[in-house]
Order: sequence, then C-alpha cells, then structure tokens
Amino acid sequence: MALASCRGVYIKGCRKALKNADILELRNSEEFCIALKPGMGSESEPIVSVGQNVKTGSVLAKPVDKTSAFIYSPVSGNISKIEDKLNSLGQHSKIITIVPSAKDVYIKFKALEKQTRVSLFGRLVESGSIDTFGKNYPTYSKYINRGVANPQTLIINLYDSDGYVCSNSAIARNYAREVAGGAVLFSKLLDFKKVVFVGVDQLGVISNAIKEHLLGFDGDIQKFTFVHGSKKYPFDEEHLLAYKLTKTMVKIDDDIASKGMIVENAQACYNFYNAVYNNTPTTATVYTISGDNFVENGLAWVKNGLNANVIFDQFGIKDKEKFASFAIGGAMSGVAQIKLETNLPISKNAIVAFGEKYDDHEIDCINCGRCSAVCPTRLEPMALDTYALEHDYGRGKKYGAEACINCGVCSYVCPSKRNLAQRISDMKDKIKRGETL
Ligand code: SF4
Ligand code: SF4
Repeated sequence: MALASCRGVYIKGCRKALKNADILELRNSEEFCIALKPGMGSESEPIVSVGQNVKTGSVLAKPVDKTSAFIYSPVSGNISKIEDKLNSLGQHSKIITIVPSAKDVYIKFKALEKQTRVSLFGRLVESGSIDTFGKNYPTYSKYINRGVANPQTLIINLYDSDGYVCSNSAIARNYAREVAGGAVLFSKLLDFKKVVFVGVDQLGVISNAIKEHLLGFDGDIQKFTFVHGSKKYPFDEEHLLAYKLTKTMVKIDDDIASKGMIVENAQACYNFYNAVYNNTPTTATVYTISGDNFVENGLAWVKNGLNANVIFDQFGIKDKEKFASFAIGGAMSGVAQIKLETNLPISKNAIVAFGEKYDDHEIDCINCGRCSAVCPTRLEPMALDTYALEHDYGRGKKYGAEACINCGVCSYVCPSKRNLAQRISDMKDKIKRGETL
C-alpha cells in the first residue's frame, strides 16, 4: 500500500554512477500483477478472464475513454486472478495477475501499409504508450482536441524527470536509432516544421548519435535542432521547457499544445518506433534503480507488473530492516511504499531505496528563503505552507497555490526538511474541491 510522496530526501551522487550504465534485462517474477489503472487517467476495461492463457503482446484490457490505454500482456502465461485492489501508487484498480509459462510466445501488430497521419496516430493509440494523465495532457488532447492551435514545434525531452532518475537520457544514449526514428514518426503526426531535442546529461554524445540516424528517417535534417537545457531540476517539466525554448508562458492548467508546442520524450519515441517498425506493443519501460540502501545502483528493463522482489534480488539491499523505506517513481515525485510485495507499473520509471541516515523529520522554518529562490513558478512555498497548516485555503488560492506544479524542489532544498510540496499539493486539491474558507 502506498503511503505518501517522499520528496525532500537528498542522496548525494545517486545518478552520477549511472551515467554510463548498461540497461539490464531481468528475470521474470513468479507472478506479474498488472494494474488496469496505471496512472491518473481512467481504468481500462479487462477483456480476458481467469484461467485464460495469454501470449506476450495479447490485449488484456481496452481503453474506456481518451484517458485510458490498451494494456498488453508483458509475458506468456495463465491468468490466475482479476481483482479490485490498490495499485502500487495507492489507487483503486483492477489488477490482472499472470503466472508466466516457461516459454514466451509473441503476438505482434499487423505491419502498417503506409505511414499516413491517420494510420500513425492509430498505431500510437494501439501501442499502449499514450499518456493517461487525466484531462489536461493526454495524447488525444495534444494531437486532436487542441482547439484552434496548430502546433508547429515538437519538443523531444531528453531530460530526466527527477534528481534520482536517469532513464530518459539512458534510453537516448542506448537507443539513438529508435529515438531518432520515433521523433520523425511524431513529427509526421502534425507535419511539424521544427523538432527540438532538449537535454542536459551527455547531450553532446547523444545528439551525435541521434543525428547519424535522423537522415535515414527524414531527409529534411534542417528542421531538427539540439538545445542544451538548464541544469536546474525540474526544467524538464513541459510548461517550463516550452517557456525556455519559446518564451511563451502557458498557464499550468493549460495544455501547451494549445499554444503551438507538443512535448514527447525519449521513452515515447522508443515505444512509437517499436510499434511502427517492429509491430510490438509497449509492455516494458526502463527503470532507474538508485538510493543508498541498494548494494548496486543501475538501470533495467521492467516489464509491466514485475514484482519488485526481482529488483531487490538483482541489485541487493544493504539493510533489510529498512526495506520499507523505498519509493516507486523517484524520490522527488514518487510514492513511498510500506511493504516490499509490490508490483512495478510501466507508468513509472524508478525505484529508490533509502538508508537510515535520511531521516526526514521536519523542524521549524529558519526563513532562509531557499524554497522561494528555487521555485520554478515563483511561489513563496514557506508562506503557502503556513496557509496550508492553518487550513487557510482562501489565502492559499490568493497567493497562487494552484500554480504549483508539484515538482518537489522546495522540499528538496529545505534545510529544515519541511514537507512543503506535500502540504501545498494537498491544499491545491482542497482548493480544487472548493474547500476554501
Ligand atoms: S511550491 Fe510547488 S512549484 Fe514551487 S518549488 Fe514547491 S512544489 Fe515546486
Ligand atoms: S527552505 Fe525551508 S527553512 Fe528555508 S525558508 Fe523555505 S521552508 Fe523555511
């Protein structure tokens, strides 16, 4: 069961060691538990039943609306259970349990005859890799329901989404061909005039590799550019990326596609490439395994629903008493877990295990101002925190709580370990529900 987010924990040098790490293949777990609600969108509808045999790539569930996705079996095996439970992110969800068989048999899509906008968008949706992030950001609103805007700029985000996660840059580094090919496929969806790759870590190496492949996919190499972004986390966030690249400020609740820009990332390019060129659905994602309670940190392909035990066995845990202290989804925006028996969704891309010394016991604010200095949306987190503690949601609203992007940076830098981002995020939800005094 999930507890809460665990932002504000600082483990020095976590990502540095992983800059050149290989992405490992892992053994199967004894069971795979696949959540049909893997994120903030709607729950997909199961189309399989208990006792049925499935192959790798069999459809397990279909979308019910534009914020849910096709979900495919990550392994060949037998469906042993379909039950309502909490997923590893603490949300109620139907969970399909599959016991893998010894031999993997694959099902693939029929190859596309032509790459038209319609056929490519159909394949993107069919691939199971569309965004399911609720009403503001799903793939449909980016490419179809975008009002009068006609997006001209495609941004390929090669940033990593958290101080503890390097999965996105690892994919770009290891799969330059797939990322280049996938970016070209995305660019065909709306006939983008400009495609900008933006990143920080190893951008020189990554861009040379991607450039080599771009020509093979699209002769119009001039429209592709590479931009070195800001080092400061969380500048991978879509609105901030769009602002950095175009100086267009987009309100946090607005979809940036409505202002002429669309953001995709390296993993999305990789998935789209495979769906089109290899005819395979999305059933796995790259996870960063980090934190000082792992014997080794690393990168691994995680099939949807893999039991986290496989990760603990592969990378080793130093202190078993501290097992409960780990998070799925990175330390900044992940979800803390209270038990080991959990299954990893492909909607996340990291697992962090903490050691004892990272006690996040909070003390009084010392008015150092660091939280305001780093807030990317120019808020005063310590003031908002006070309003949240006083349940003064009216003032929270007045002083911009709704503009908070839940990046977690304020908590991250706070020397008093104050749970700023968590309380501001909670206040934001209350304001949304109309609980202003
Ligand atoms: S107040 Fe919100 S946007 Fe600002 S640093 Fe904290 S979590 Fe990020
Ligand atoms: S960073 Fe922490 S201690 Fe410093 S002003 Fe903000 S809340 Fe207070």
